[in-house]
Amino acid sequence: MTTASEVTGTSTAKRPAAVSCHVCGAETSIAVHGPPAIVRCSACGLTALEAFPGDSERVASYQEDYYSAGTGARFLGPFEWVTSLLRTLRLQSILRRAPGPGAVLDVGCGRGDLLELFQRRGWRALGTQVSATAARAARELRGVEVLCGELPDLGLSPASFDVIAFFHVLEHLPRPDLYLQCAHALLAPGGLLVVEVPDCSSLAFRLLPLRNLCLDHPNHLFFFTPRSLRGLLERVGFHVVGESRFSLEHSPYTALQNLLNLLPGAPNRLYRSLMRNAEGRRLRRSPWTWVHGLAALCLALPALLASLLAVLLPPGNTLRFYCRKRLPS
Ligand SMILES: [Zn+2]
Repeated sequence: MTTASEVTGTSTAKRPAAVSCHVCGAETSIAVHGPPAIVRCSACGLTALEAFPGDSERVASYQEDYYSAGTGARFLGPFEWVTSLLRTLRLQSILRRAPGPGAVLDVGCGRGDLLELFQRRGWRALGTQVSATAARAARELRGVEVLCGELPDLGLSPASFDVIAFFHVLEHLPRPDLYLQCAHALLAPGGLLVVEVPDCSSLAFRLLPLRNLCLDHPNHLFFFTPRSLRGLLERVGFHVVGESRFSLEHSPYTALQNLLNLLPGAPNRLYRSLMRNAEGRRLRRSPWTWVHGLAALCLALPALLASLLAVLLPPGNTLRFYCRKRLPS
């Protein structure tokens, strides 16, 4: 089987003669001619970047430039505030299926805002992060416990969590199957797994994948569809018991940004300008960013309506599965 470390190298690296699936090792074929090139596995159906960044490069990319030191924030003040506010929707959707209180594990917990909400309701809350910056902010500002490192290396006790959440994490991992296997072992009998990823079966991704917000190169390594994600979860031993194709937190903005990406120039200009990092500051100084901002005001309502259509007409641009462990037959 090909491991992540065997296929390290940047997307600009010379293409190997043959690339096998990062997860199952079967033969892949080019699904999108990049750069970056995207390949689809002939056996398990997973779609991924042809070449992944190296592990140290990947972890380094989630440190100071991804999350702000001190606050762990990613976006400018008002946008960060709205993002945090919308976390209550995540909480409510989980509590409807797992009323608790119990123990929750949020894998890739960002700055810990979902965990803080659980903790306030009497849950025992634990997060994991590869970003030391975000982990520190979550501990100091949100008062939640966060372990820094890769989930399979953390030595957590089997069957010790009632809820395990992966919100926009799985697509960042070089081996999502290993993380899910670990989550399967950590989940208590009757527990709930929640997985949310960008839905790359969307019309926008199929038409213009290289200008789609869900590409997020080079942070996203896998590009899931409902079928490929369900297949992965079932192979690991989960049973999908519920799904959602609309997220107020992600779907409308993704639709809006994909409309803006029809404008010429580098894609995702507005999204990147909302970041607190140096690139965001540089982009905000450009008049073109303000043109994109004005266009966004005009396109906001159509984008909201387009993303709401996913409630009736799947696929949308965001996919959430609720899963239970499959009972042994
Ligand atoms: Zn495969």
